Amino acid sequence: PMGVCPSAIMSLLRDNFTGVLHPWARPEVLTCTSWGAPIIWDGTFNPDIAQQVAGQQNLTIGLTVFAVGRYLEKYLARFLESAEQHFMVGQHVVYYVFTERPAAVPQVALGRGRRLRVERVVQERRWQDVSMARMRTLHAALGGRLGREAHFVFCMDVDQHFSNAFGPETLADSVAQLHAWHYRWPRWFLPYERDVRSAAALSRSEGDFYYHAAVFGGSVAALRRLTAHCTRGLQRDRALGLEARWHDESHLNKFFWLHKPAKVLSPEFCWSPEIGWRPEVHRPRLLWAPKEYALVRD
Ligand code: UDP
Ligand code: MN
Repeated sequence: PMGVCPSAIMSLLRDNFTGVLHPWARPEVLTCTSWGAPIIWDGTFNPDIAQQVAGQQNLTIGLTVFAVGRYLEKYLARFLESAEQHFMVGQHVVYYVFTERPAAVPQVALGRGRRLRVERVVQERRWQDVSMARMRTLHAALGGRLGREAHFVFCMDVDQHFSNAFGPETLADSVAQLHAWHYRWPRWFLPYERDVRSAAALSRSEGDFYYHAAVFGGSVAALRRLTAHCTRGLQRDRALGLEARWHDESHLNKFFWLHKPAKVLSPEFCWSPEIGWRPEVHRPRLLWAPKEYALVRD
């Protein structure tokens, strides 16, 4: 089958969380990368085994989300309520909400073993700056309490909600999300930063996949490296008066080109309903909210 390679089988057997694997269960899609990381699609992992393995390790999993300005009222409640239904159910979870208005964070009933912490951030003036400032804030948080209390962390956009189980099968040292709009595109056509002066630049012959900054994760140590790299790149660009095409996402893509992710999530894990029906998308885990930029951006 097209998607399966021997190194994938080896890395799948080594993978603690995916709960052994049936990469051949989805012969119509790519289920491993050229460097042997699993690309997990619905049906290629056993969620019950993943749950058991994670439970035995008594893990705490962090979930960070930023809700600044109008994004708070518009998206945060649904994001958190749906996470209670679907995100790492049965594990210890700590949510970190970053906002400029802690008092406005909605009260959400949390299940056992689940906590919510709110951290104040300053509100940047431009939405691009809010988005880019996340890398530096996350880096600091991972070096502080979040890093001490969580083993693995997912960092997500708030303008989406969970629609199906997003469990420990997604855990690995570093985890990248295939971008729903771009996973079928040829590499040279992907919307990477192309200005060679930018720290995020990739040439036409570089790049593996286009990853979505709305979902990335990994161990605390790996995420410290990722956020440090992106913060440095963003600062370097700013000093030159540059802003990469897709802001922090461009730098994230550069990082994952240089430091390959240990696990890749199929577009089923973060799907845009506006794309319409695709036969390979079985059970979307997260659904993007419709883009209502006029309402939430200045
Ligand atoms: N964000 C925010 N307030 C803003 C801009 C961005 O809270 O004014 C956060 C929010 O979590 C959002 C993320 O940054 O989901 C990325 O921005 P956005 O979702 O607008 O970017 P897109 O997904 O459209 O690229
Ligand atoms: Mn978004």
